Amino acid sequence: MPIHLLSPLVVNQIAAGEVVERPASVVKELVENSIDAEATRINVEIENGGRDLILINDDGVGIPMDELSLAVAAHATSKITQTEDLNAIASLGFRGEALASIGAISRMSLVSRTKNDTGAARIDIEGDKVDDPKPSPGPLGTTITVRNLFFNTPGRRKFLRTDQTETTRISQTVEKLALSHPQIGFTFTTNKRKTIDLAPTQHRRERVLEILGRELDGELLELDVNERGIGMWGMIGKPAIARGTNRHMQVFLNGRSITDRSITHAIKEAYRGLIDPTRHPTIVLFMQMDPAMVDVNVHPTKAEVRFRNQAAVHGAVLSAVRNRLREDDLTPTFDLSRPGVGSLSIPGFKPEFASGVGSGGGGSSSQESTSQFVDYFRRLDPLQKGFIYSEVKEVLAESVPELLDDDNAKPQAAQDMEVLPMVRAVEDVLQIHSSFLVTQDEHGLLIIDQHALHERVMFEKLKEAIGKGNLESQRLLMPAPVDIDASQMELLVSLKPLLDRIGIEAEQIGPAAIGINAFSSFLFERGVEPAEFILELFNKASAEGLNNDTEAALHEVLDMMACKAAIKAGDKLTTQEITDLLRQREIVERSSNCPHGRPTTLRLSIEELEKQFGRR
Ligand code: ADP
Ligand code: MG
Repeated sequence: MPIHLLSPLVVNQIAAGEVVERPASVVKELVENSIDAEATRINVEIENGGRDLILINDDGVGIPMDELSLAVAAHATSKITQTEDLNAIASLGFRGEALASIGAISRMSLVSRTKNDTGAARIDIEGDKVDDPKPSPGPLGTTITVRNLFFNTPGRRKFLRTDQTETTRISQTVEKLALSHPQIGFTFTTNKRKTIDLAPTQHRRERVLEILGRELDGELLELDVNERGIGMWGMIGKPAIARGTNRHMQVFLNGRSITDRSITHAIKEAYRGLIDPTRHPTIVLFMQMDPAMVDVNVHPTKAEVRFRNQAAVHGAVLSAVRNRLREDDLTPTFDLSRPGVGSLSIPGFKPEFASGVGSGGGGSSSQESTSQFVDYFRRLDPLQKGFIYSEVKEVLAESVPELLDDDNAKPQAAQDMEVLPMVRAVEDVLQIHSSFLVTQDEHGLLIIDQHALHERVMFEKLKEAIGKGNLESQRLLMPAPVDIDASQMELLVSLKPLLDRIGIEAEQIGPAAIGINAFSSFLFERGVEPAEFILELFNKASAEGLNNDTEAALHEVLDMMACKAAIKAGDKLTTQEITDLLRQREIVERSSNCPHGRPTTLRLSIEELEKQFGRR
């Protein structure tokens, strides 16, 4: 075939191939246009997953009749003019491609009226047939109707999923756009049913709650900082509302939803040790920076961007989120009367999750029992909960009798507590089943998992020590032999740098045996057997493999050490040990969660207790 120029239709269809993957992409492009047109309300309506109809209506500035033909032409835009403009894009659109592309693969009509015009004008396109604009009735603003999407590109049509899936994607698209534009009212109607109706608001917090769900209010911390020229505002979820998917991690840059691996990494890093690494935090983060510091012209749908200074952005996000999490008390509170909400406030407690993680050893039994305990609670019907409470009540009667003082309907206990010092005398603490400590703080009753808390304490100590250099090591009088699998011998070499850091020195002494010459003093002091520890480390490294990232791998190993060194479930604690542990709880960082991310402490608030005892 001789070389020839493609027809405008084919050119536009090729462009559409990049921009319009599915109905949700049409909605994204059109709503972005409405936002750029300064609309204060945007209505989105679809039928049958957007296949048959997508209608977007806004009250924005509109398009004058004599510009309508240009608006639907390729490479025609009102948003930029010259090359330099590409260096600092302030609008959502700028390529002038969307309308031409969508017109080339659907039957599209556009009706628009500006405030200077007395009437509206309309233009219709179908594939390469573009009608002349003509006057038409219509309100201020723009209405775009897209029918029969992909009618002339059957290949694309074939790739569409079920109507339900396409509808969900559109709905998520609308939510994303609405999240970053609270001052605009949004509605979404599917098959004549309105499923989203968001009033304009000046409060971004309000909009976030409307979309994420109001029941999360107490679980979200507000972040508002400026770091290295990057403004960040967001709502960041406490560890308890981490999810199995990353759908609830949303990042916006200058009003545009983006996905950026380095930002995702920074966020997950900030949560490290607070949530299980396989879970994702709930977070909505809005970043604002000089448009000149970022290139948004690197991805067809602009979902990815390129920062001029990637490292600075990573650092800013990491420290902002990490610091915010540090500031707050992350102890989950359980609300027994609203099982639905209760399950949200402690969703980390999925039994399969609790038992699947952890490096085995003494630790997992207590972690499992905590999770089973809570899980058990969640499933109880309210009557049974009352029953369980009568048991808790007995415990309380012994430890904090003032809580149960009945002749005063006012929360006397709560009042007293305001004047009581926060850390109570150790007589106020009860160890139950040699596994949990029951005590109080100014908000209510605390149930502490002694192993999980001590594990965090040990972990923080180790982290601090390793920050100062290799861990202190102690020479053994006689090398301690360990029988390993011959196939694990290579680990002796690959793990050497790590072993050096934690103060362990070992060498091969047989085809399937190694000898430990020196061992970490820290572990020694905590009574950990060198051979047992090494065997477990090797088994873990060969079965699951350690993280590729050196820092993360070190974290995993410190984690193991902390677990081994910590008080176990089933250990009867002395008064002194309890006092020390509770004191540490006030001092160490992230004491609300163990290094695997599970909570160390659960709180039952005074209000909840009063409610359950029928005082309110
Ligand atoms: P871009 O958004 O990249 O400029 P589009 O093809 O999406 O390209 O839109 C072309 C032009 O049509 C825009 O630059 C804008 O001037 C105009 N336009 C599109 N949608 C609207 C709307 N809803 N309200 C007002 N003007 C619009
Ligand atoms: Mg556009």
